[in-house]
Amino acid sequence: MIVAPEFCRVEVSEMKPLPSKARAVIIGGGVSGCSVAYHLVKLGWTDVILLERKQLTCGTTWHAAGLLSELRGSSDMTKLTKYSMQLYSSLEEETGIATGLRRVSSLSIAVTQERKHELYRQLSLAPAYGVEARKISVRELEGMYPHIDVSDVTAALHFPNDGQCDPGNVAMALAKGARQRGAAIFEGVKVAGVQARNGRVSGVTWEKDGERGVIETDNVVNCAGMWAREFGARSDVAVPLHACEHFYMITEPIDGLNRLPVLRVLDEYTYYKEDAGKILFGAVEPKAKPWGMNGIPESFCFDQLSEDFAHFEPIVEKALKRVPMLATAGIRTFFNGPESFTPDDQYHLGEAPGVRGYWVACGYNSTGIAASGGAGLALAQWMNDDEPPFDLSGVDIRRMESLQKNRLYLRERVSEVVGLSFGDHFPARQMTTARGIRRSPIHEHLKARGAVFGEMVGWERANWFARKGQEREYRYSWYRQNWFDNQREEHLAIRERVGIFDLTSFGKIRVEGRDATTFLQRLCSNDVDVPVGRIVYTQMLNERGGIESDLTVSRLTETAFLLVVSALTLQTNLCWLRRHLGDEFVVIVDVSASESILAVMGPKSRELLGKVSPNDFSNENNPYSTWQEIEIGMGLARAHRVASVGELGWEIYISTDQAAHVFEVIEAAGADVGLKLCGLHALGSCRMEKACRHLPDDVGSGEHVLEAGLGFAVKTAKPGYIGRDAVLRKLETGLDRRLVQFRLKDPAPLLHKNEVVFRDGRIAGTITSGDYGHTLGGAIGLGYVPCKDESEAALLSSSYEIEIAGECFAAEVSLKPMYDPKGERMRA
Ligand SMILES: Cc1cc2nc3c(=O)[nH]c(=O)nc-3n(C[C@H](O)[C@H](O)[C@H](O)COP(=O)(O)OP(=O)(O)OC[C@H]3O[C@@H](n4cnc5c(N)ncnc54)[C@H](O)[C@@H]3O)c2cc1C
Repeated sequence: MIVAPEFCRVEVSEMKPLPSKARAVIIGGGVSGCSVAYHLVKLGWTDVILLERKQLTCGTTWHAAGLLSELRGSSDMTKLTKYSMQLYSSLEEETGIATGLRRVSSLSIAVTQERKHELYRQLSLAPAYGVEARKISVRELEGMYPHIDVSDVTAALHFPNDGQCDPGNVAMALAKGARQRGAAIFEGVKVAGVQARNGRVSGVTWEKDGERGVIETDNVVNCAGMWAREFGARSDVAVPLHACEHFYMITEPIDGLNRLPVLRVLDEYTYYKEDAGKILFGAVEPKAKPWGMNGIPESFCFDQLSEDFAHFEPIVEKALKRVPMLATAGIRTFFNGPESFTPDDQYHLGEAPGVRGYWVACGYNSTGIAASGGAGLALAQWMNDDEPPFDLSGVDIRRMESLQKNRLYLRERVSEVVGLSFGDHFPARQMTTARGIRRSPIHEHLKARGAVFGEMVGWERANWFARKGQEREYRYSWYRQNWFDNQREEHLAIRERVGIFDLTSFGKIRVEGRDATTFLQRLCSNDVDVPVGRIVYTQMLNERGGIESDLTVSRLTETAFLLVVSALTLQTNLCWLRRHLGDEFVVIVDVSASESILAVMGPKSRELLGKVSPNDFSNENNPYSTWQEIEIGMGLARAHRVASVGELGWEIYISTDQAAHVFEVIEAAGADVGLKLCGLHALGSCRMEKACRHLPDDVGSGEHVLEAGLGFAVKTAKPGYIGRDAVLRKLETGLDRRLVQFRLKDPAPLLHKNEVVFRDGRIAGTITSGDYGHTLGGAIGLGYVPCKDESEAALLSSSYEIEIAGECFAAEVSLKPMYDPKGERMRA
């Protein structure tokens, strides 16, 4: 049993009456809310109020294990956790509250060959993200952690700057720091709801000891932890997260136990922390227990959940083998507490879609202590500047679809998410829970033909097609997976004959109305005021020239346009469009579910379409970047001539009710021309050969459109669009870096993402996305390389190597697509 801690509460909470107005009201006094308050006042915001329904830290924060590690999946996320640790080490001096931060370092160990590879990939990446890490021998490991069984250890890494802290005191120090700078913090005040007027937050209603009131404000921040979903739902704001039970044990004091690094045995899903002569060992179980299905109890305050030894026993068994001294140490505490988890294991930050001024910072997936310092800073800057300080798309709440707030979906999904942080992060790894929610009309057709599906924001998408008799499961690895040859066959069919993909999951937005053209001209960096029937590839930029959206715009009529975006960015796009809509007479509608897309791609696509449609697919009638209405079988569709794979090809947009018919007709006619069903893995390898940029991997709000190599889609002569000044400025000052395409000369290794690029022996950057080039005969990747004041020739004449798990491979580099650089095939 852990006893609720006695923090210095009197010092941080207000005794005075609640004000009636505030610039920002933060809901929830866990580490997240305290950090947001701290950083807002630090930025000079006055009238910042934090309201906590019970007592500060009484939700999840008080009982966290307090592990802090620097290295994350992206350089920006790593910056944020590094900042958290720096902040926690300086807070004591600022506030007098010791956060308990100790940089005891950490060890990650592997006991499988695949995990060894993953650890060595981290080792390569660490210096590129400014994190210290080193490989240690088993003997050295024993020296640093003498209590563990190392007999099966395949690799070990040491992170000297990692550490641990006292989570409750981190939150209290942030609260005190916030109050010292003018924030008002009230405990025992429950926020009952958020009021909104004309799509914008106008205030909050509160309750305290039977008393009720309203605080007028333009900004609320939902930092309500595991309550955040239900609290958001009261204002129709989707905050997809769900609590899970989360366990650890603490031993009795162990004689002679010295200070130890934090230890993570990833393959066993366990971690160990030495604290005051005891060992705390906990787990992120691969199959976790969702909690709070009927709502979080109103009375919850420093509560613990019931012990469940049967559930934790497999973990304990592993722990006793790994750290044998635990068997005799005696257990003082078996702790079970709830924590919130999200559908994709990333936290939620930013402004929620639909209600302006409604911000969120929650759903930390058991990293809230490590993340909150940086997340609080980033959100405060975002609120202050009305734009994120850098690309935060990985955690931006707008990546979620509102259907993901469904409780059954969340309950299923989070049982898998808890263990993900310690699971192998294999390329192409798919979620196994909460599947089958969004299906294309031809889903069953594809399934019957061997499709192996992946999932994206609820959509089932055919990733590859198994041959007859082939197992229809992913077998994951860091090396070639079981679908590698299927991808190659599909890839080559597209290059040499013709393939068909189901792209129904793409986001489709109809922008229509008298002012649709002027509105889109203001948002798009390409010229979309084109004749009806034309398709324009464009970006929507922010004021810094960063890429908020990467899309095609098809002009359907004089006053109607169809915008096509990736499934993952649909909500972000809708938000961007809606927030920039001024007085223009325009309607923006998500029409994603109303049309399916069948892509017919490859040199024989014209011939194939000619067999199923009486329409004319010639260059004269339907040139590249145009669409036409077609009869196809007995149905009616639009044929959009585009080239996401770099070949002659069309995307056929069909009303969903006719999609199965059209698919059947194309399939039947395809036998003669060698049509092959293709999955998204083949699309990925083809686009990589063509160096087509992918948002959010290769381009995003932090990537300048010219540095991303997309200047060909930017019209500098067109006046008045967002980001134009930043484009002109960049043209004057020159590029600081450029996105380039790499091909490994050795055909064996693979590139996925986050491999380190060396230029003339020095770290130059990382691979933003990678795949295998089955036509080019080697792994292909994209990545940024600094190039200030350098010519293209100088950039290209350097020698490049890419490090994969500690091994360097020579790479060719190109600024033009290595496959069909002149784009002749797609215009054929
Ligand atoms: C067993 C365990 C171990 C963990 N170990 C680690 C670790 O080692 N490292 C790490 O980084 N993270 C760890 N975590 C995760 C970490 O504890 C959480 O991510 C973090 O505490 C979440 O903070 P929060 O502020 O979002 O939520 P909370 O701390 O739950 O705060 C939310 C607050 O909102 C208040 N609230 C809710 N509704 C309202 C309302 N309507 N009005 C007013 N107030 C409201 C609640 O009372 C609560 O105080 C662990 C978690 C658990 C359970």
